[in-house]
Amino acid sequence: MSGDCLFCKIINREVPSEFLYEDDDFVVFRDINPAAPVHLLLVPKKHIRSMNDFKNEDSAIISGLFVLAREMARQQGVDKSGYKLLFNVEKGGGQVIFHIHLHLIGGWEK
Ligand code: 5GP
Ligand code: ZN
Repeated sequence: MSGDCLFCKIINREVPSEFLYEDDDFVVFRDINPAAPVHLLLVPKKHIRSMNDFKNEDSAIISGLFVLAREMARQQGVDKSGYKLLFNVEKGGGQVIFHIHLHLIGGWEK
């Protein structure tokens, strides 16, 4: 938990958000400003600042994000039509929330 981190607050339910999925390690919710009909944020509960900051011991979290992405794509019905998975890394890479998250974007066509 990082005190002024929005995604930590969402994970701790200090800021309301509807979770499409939750387990001990991850939450999934919709992006507030979707770039496509389906735009999910897959977020580890552990506060990791960016792709630059994850430690080797966090490898299971990173690979877990991709397993989760496959499942969420299926659940959202975009697995066959196709989707994008995206990490924005640091300011120049478009990162604005400094709590690591994977964007799942798709649903342009069914
Ligand atoms: P980044 O640019 O850091 O990779 O992505 C952050 C994403 O979080 C943006 O796409 C932005 O629309 C989304 N976002 C920012 N604030 C909120 C919020 O309060 N709730 C939700 N659901 N998404 C948010
Ligand atoms: Zn955080």
